[in-house]
Amino acid sequence: MHTKKHPFGKFAAIIIICVLVLLSACSQTNSDVSSDKIRIITVNFPPADFSRMIGKDLVEVRQLLLPGVESHVFEPTPQDIIEIREADLFIYGGGLSDTWVENLLKDNEISPDNTLIMMDYVTAVTEEIIRGMQHEHDQDHAGEIDDDDNHHRQEKDEHVWTDPKNAIKISEAIQDKLIALDPDNAGEYRTNYNAFAKELNDLDDKWSSAVADNERDVLIFADRFPFRYLTDAYGLKYYAAFPGCSAETEPNPATIVFLINKVRDESIPYIFTIEMSNQALAKTVAEETGAEILQLHSIHNRTVEEAAEAVSYLELMYKNLENVTKALN
Ligand SMILES: [Zn+2]
Repeated sequence: MHTKKHPFGKFAAIIIICVLVLLSACSQTNSDVSSDKIRIITVNFPPADFSRMIGKDLVEVRQLLLPGVESHVFEPTPQDIIEIREADLFIYGGGLSDTWVENLLKDNEISPDNTLIMMDYVTAVTEEIIRGMQHEHDQDHAGEIDDDDNHHRQEKDEHVWTDPKNAIKISEAIQDKLIALDPDNAGEYRTNYNAFAKELNDLDDKWSSAVADNERDVLIFADRFPFRYLTDAYGLKYYAAFPGCSAETEPNPATIVFLINKVRDESIPYIFTIEMSNQALAKTVAEETGAEILQLHSIHNRTVEEAAEAVSYLELMYKNLENVTKALN
């Protein structure tokens, strides 16, 4: 009896211990869900979206720019700085809009170990000032000290995410960071990244084939132009009123006339504005030429409505593709 009962008792005890361990493990996971997640802070929308696509439930992503806020005027609050400091990963662009980040890094307010700079993972180009484009230098600045403006001319164009191939490179960098921070879940990050990269590749293929055979190859922006990476990627030409990060919204007469003549000379049926634009210049050009206005979303940030509908980078890029296809045919 003894020899029979003893092993059974031991076996039952092991089972009970296993169940207890499992139960406590479960309850612990449930109660610590938010603190177990990798905390990611981003300045603007694209890397927030990429991080969610790759990290899914394993990450908690906060975008500093609130929906509907113009991204070039962003200033962090003291609370934002605390959150950046406590985050596992902080992602920003690395351009002129992020000068405040460089200042925080210089003052050791935030740690360089946990930052990811999007521009580090792509081939960055400088913002172009092309013919017809209005730049601050065009205007009479006699007597003004304009160091910022001179600085801006040499700035790298920060809108790197507008090329889907760059979105893939940035997403891969995010995957690598997540694996380094949380190696136990490396398999899941890889699976999610591969699925997302495939969707981005499909997007890139669709852009390539859409612009391959059409009547036109010129886009007219009666607005700012933050799309250099996108137009470069697909061999499109463009004319625009202002550079991408320009604070200018009041066009001078020469700019208005240049754009109107371009639309007339090349019989261009559609002109573009960007999201959250007052469209004032576009309306003037449209009235003068009969061209219709379309939107190209620069995806710095989402509007309040887009955020409420959880619109993704992919959806915004497909809507852009639809409008560009319309304009080119
Ligand atoms: Zn910008």
